[in-house]
Formats: sequence, structure tokens, C-alpha cells
Amino acid sequence: MSIICSKCGGTHIMCEAMIEPNTKKFDHYTDESFLYGWCNDCQMGTILTDVDEVKNDMKARYRVFKESYGIEPQYANCRIAWKDDGKEEDVRIMLSAELAEDDVFYNCNSLSGLLSLAECGKEDFIITQCYSFAMRTEKERPEQQTFEYEVEGKTIIMTGKKIIDFYGEHYGLSEDEMKRYAARNACLVKYYKESDIPLLDPLLVKKLLDKEKLMEKGETENFKLQLFFLWHVTIQKEDDTCHKPFRYVMDARCLDNMQSFGRRYVTLEAALLHCLNGFNENANIPDRYSSTGEYISKQI
Ligand SMILES: [Zn+2]
Repeated sequence: MSIICSKCGGTHIMCEAMIEPNTKKFDHYTDESFLYGWCNDCQMGTILTDVDEVKNDMKARYRVFKESYGIEPQYANCRIAWKDDGKEEDVRIMLSAELAEDDVFYNCNSLSGLLSLAECGKEDFIITQCYSFAMRTEKERPEQQTFEYEVEGKTIIMTGKKIIDFYGEHYGLSEDEMKRYAARNACLVKYYKESDIPLLDPLLVKKLLDKEKLMEKGETENFKLQLFFLWHVTIQKEDDTCHKPFRYVMDARCLDNMQSFGRRYVTLEAALLHCLNGFNENANIPDRYSSTGEYISKQI
């Protein structure tokens, strides 16, 4: 038996017991005497934990889970104690790196990783109890989840299934990637598709070029661009001088699949022309238009 102080890991601890005051004879421990006690090193009351007992309990529950379901569990429901303030918390600790995601409390990769968290190690918490092992339910799988993002004041909601479809099965989107960027990208695309942002046409090209002189630093222009696929394009007049001589930055996002494209340009004319030429950068493929003027005259 090795009961330790959860704060410092030391064993100079004391706990409560009932004694017969006249004979000083020990009678019994009080209900929670092995859970809370006094640490002589910390000089304060702390949470006590029986490391071996917690570890044996983990191993037993893990074995029962595997025997019952024939698979490895994905996570453990545990109680932890924080070393700094001694507060306790019930958390979910994942047992597989594949399941790493932002909102997971801790990922320890294996049962031995979990067992080590019951010892007073380098982490700033210690597991004081393991309640159960479990698998995530269907509902928790990404396909079944819904993702919400606010774009320009409008809330866009998408299901995980739609996001996976947008990226395509071949992309093999992981749950982590979905949370890190894919859900946001897919919501942005949905927003742009549904928005009434104008399509780039000769009139708009002319209007943007006429307005160029009035464009303030940091100001952006948005439009949709119909190439083989539909795109959403943002051109921003740059706010700083660190990319000189470039003054315009373009961000283009395909609305039919997950392609995106970004470049810097010296002039707005060059940025618009690159759009009109389908972002052509292949020297062997001649550009369709040599200037925006040519585009405008050909279209009209
Ligand atoms: Zn201590």
C-alpha cells in the first residue's frame, strides 16, 4: 500500500481515525480518512490517493471492458486532483492518439500511459479514481455532429457528413482536421455560395478599377468568379509596407471543392487579370486576355 499526498507525492501524511479516548485504543478509520488528510511536507490538508489501488482498479476495469466487448476502449472516465489548488474534477481521458481533438482533456495513447497518470509524475494533476472505460457513441462520431460558425454576423450550421462530402472521401479527413480547419472552411463556402456577392463581369471589372484610387489601405473587395468551377475571391489593399512592391493580396476559395489560391500583386489590374485568366501560371498555356481592357472589349 502506498498512499500519497496528491499535491507533492510524498508519504509523510496523516489521516483521521477514531480511538477510544480512555484507552487510546484504535477503533476504526472514518469514512473518508484515506481520501483527505494532512501532509507534513505541504503543511496543509490535501487529497490522499492510494496509487496501487487506483492502478489495480484501472487494470481490472480495462480487462473487464475488453473481455465484454472484444475491443480496446477509447477513453476512461476518471476523477483527477489538481496539484496546485487541490480541486477535483471528473474528466474523460482518451486512450488513442487518433482520437486527439481540441476539447479532449488529455490523451495518453495507452493503458500504461493512463496508469502512469495515477502516480505523482510531471503532469499538474493526478488521477485519483477511474470510474469506467467506454467507447464514444454513434452520436459523438464526426458525421453525426453539427458544426457552427459565424461568418459576417450570420450563423452557418453544417453536419459533419456534409463537410466530409465537401472534402471528398479520398481526402480521408480526420476528426482532428475537421475540427481544426475543415468545418470552418466548409461553412465559409456555404456562406459564400448562398450570399448575393456579385459575379465578376465587365461592368464590375470597370467599376473596381475606377474605384481603385479611392480604395483605402486594409479595404477589401469581394466577388464571385465563374471559371470551370465557381470561386469566391477577396482582394485586399494591404495595410503595411512589408511586402513592397506588392500592394494587393488575393485570397480565392473554390466553392465547388476544397481548392484555394492566394497571391500578392503590384496592381489591382494584375490581380483582376489573373482571375480572368483562370489563375493561369503555366508559361506554356497562353493567357486568354493580355489586359482587363481586352477582356472588357471582348465581352461587350
Ligand atoms: Zn504533500
